[in-house]
Amino acid sequence: MIRTTTYGSAVIEFHLTRSARNSLSISVLPDGAVAVAAPEDAELVEVDERIRRRARWILRQQRRFAAYRPRTPPRQFVGGETHRYLGRQYRLKIDQAEKDRVLVRSGRLVVETRLPEDRDWTRTLLRRWTRQRAREVLRERFEAAAPMMAALRLPLPPLMICPMKRRWGSHTPSGRILLNDALIAARRDCIDYVIAHELCHVVEPNHSPRFFRLLRRLMPDWERRKELLERETA
Ligand SMILES: [Zn+2]
Repeated sequence: MIRTTTYGSAVIEFHLTRSARNSLSISVLPDGAVAVAAPEDAELVEVDERIRRRARWILRQQRRFAAYRPRTPPRQFVGGETHRYLGRQYRLKIDQAEKDRVLVRSGRLVVETRLPEDRDWTRTLLRRWTRQRAREVLRERFEAAAPMMAALRLPLPPLMICPMKRRWGSHTPSGRILLNDALIAARRDCIDYVIAHELCHVVEPNHSPRFFRLLRRLMPDWERRKELLERETA
């Protein structure tokens, strides 16, 4: 069972297993995953509380492992490189300008910058733009799912958009929906799938047969969208 808890602005995801044991153990694996082994009868609120109490240690371990991990070839933030946005690949164009801004123009992702030679600055501008677009687009897609919830006679839960390492979204024990801001790379119909999936968790917390029946009812072609999402963001 995968769960999520928050600590300050950090989101901690962990894999929870239960067994006949007396105490709870928390380990951070070299890939940054958090494994929690709990006694059969441990209450989920207690487990979350323990995770939060060890959060600083967990985050420190994750940082330590991340420093040793070989990275995927980093982006260079130079003209001609491709970047994915809403399901399309855009070539990057870097233009010298008086004012910094990022925009999509004639099928290109254009970075207008005072410092065209400074790749770090290009990266900062792009990251800022991506986060802002993620906040706008993900919220808009989320609100578009309101009729789906209305059909279940439920309001939309509160939404939080944040960077997440290992998942596209999550439904927290406190009833919030978290969406990974990296979803901005995906097509809108794939974003809608992640939202529908998390909204189903409001009603069905686990991936039970009932969960998938509900998901199919709300979004009959969810499997096609899931496959597309996995293929395009691999
Ligand atoms: Zn799920």
